Amino acid sequence: MATRLDGRAVSKKILADLKQTIAELAQQDVTPTLAVVLVGSNPASEVYVRNKQRRAEDIGVRSLMFRMPEATTQADLLAKVAELNHDPDIDAILVQLPLPAGLDEQAVIDAIGPDKDVDGFSPVSVGRLWANEPTVVASTPYGIMALLDAYDIDVAGKRVVIIGRSNIVGRPLAGLMVNHDATVTIAHSKTRDLKQLAKEADILVVAVGVPHFIGADAVKPGAVVIDVGISRGADGKLLGDVDEAAVAPIASAITPVPGGVGPMTIASLMAQTVTLAKRRANG
Ligand code: NAP
Repeated sequence: MATRLDGRAVSKKILADLKQTIAELAQQDVTPTLAVVLVGSNPASEVYVRNKQRRAEDIGVRSLMFRMPEATTQADLLAKVAELNHDPDIDAILVQLPLPAGLDEQAVIDAIGPDKDVDGFSPVSVGRLWANEPTVVASTPYGIMALLDAYDIDVAGKRVVIIGRSNIVGRPLAGLMVNHDATVTIAHSKTRDLKQLAKEADILVVAVGVPHFIGADAVKPGAVVIDVGISRGADGKLLGDVDEAAVAPIASAITPVPGGVGPMTIASLMAQTVTLAKRRANG
């Protein structure tokens, strides 16, 4: 039976360690500060932002919330980002996506200063990742690597198949995996013979957004299975992209949904905010 990779427990430990680091930074008069910009009132975004703020408060990260109305113009949003870029007390900037229709997300992402781009979405951060230079990276892939590390699962030399090529999960994760010496294949909706490909993976990452997309017939016995997907069933229960009950008996390790990748994502956002604050503390 597969080991359950417990993202709740690991993220708790990461957050406790961060609390300690934050206390040390306070002695240098530095409080890690995260600016969150929320435009409009998307209900899912409200929940995400609230969770991020709660976590931040728990560990002593100062979280500043900038709410902007649904009718915000591109120019106003860019002006806000520029103001935050220039504020010396702010370490990290996060513009919650998606933005209301009519706003150009990529232009806003591009405007975030690369040294405050805590989501790692800006072209400079993406370039640094693929050049294997130190950089902030998207929180979910960062969290997946941290979770594997916490269970001493070495990716070097392993065959990794990532299903999903989004900018927030699949692509940055592929960069991190390559930087850690894995052999990586990215699959997507146009991939042929997906099941056979998935079955070749020593580490299979599924980030598709289709409940129970992967069953036991697409998993190699002994594989490590990382389920990124979060969907809500008709009964309101959270469902992953992997049929955990079917896959757990043959995998060597698996992330549950909920309680796997999800909690690691927020812990990773905090970890990288603290990294940026440390940079400020060290001049
Ligand atoms: P996304 O932008 O919609 O990307 C989904 C990817 O899956 C795309 O690359 C798409 O291929 C691929 N795909 C869709 N149907 C497929 C199929 N039938 N066969 C093969 N590939 C298929 O989604 P995302 O933002 O990466 O999120 C993916 C899932 O992870 C969602 O459930 C989301 O809620 C969840 N998520 C969880 C966390 C967390 O913290 N746990 C964080 C982020 C996302 P194409 O590119 O060809 O369209």
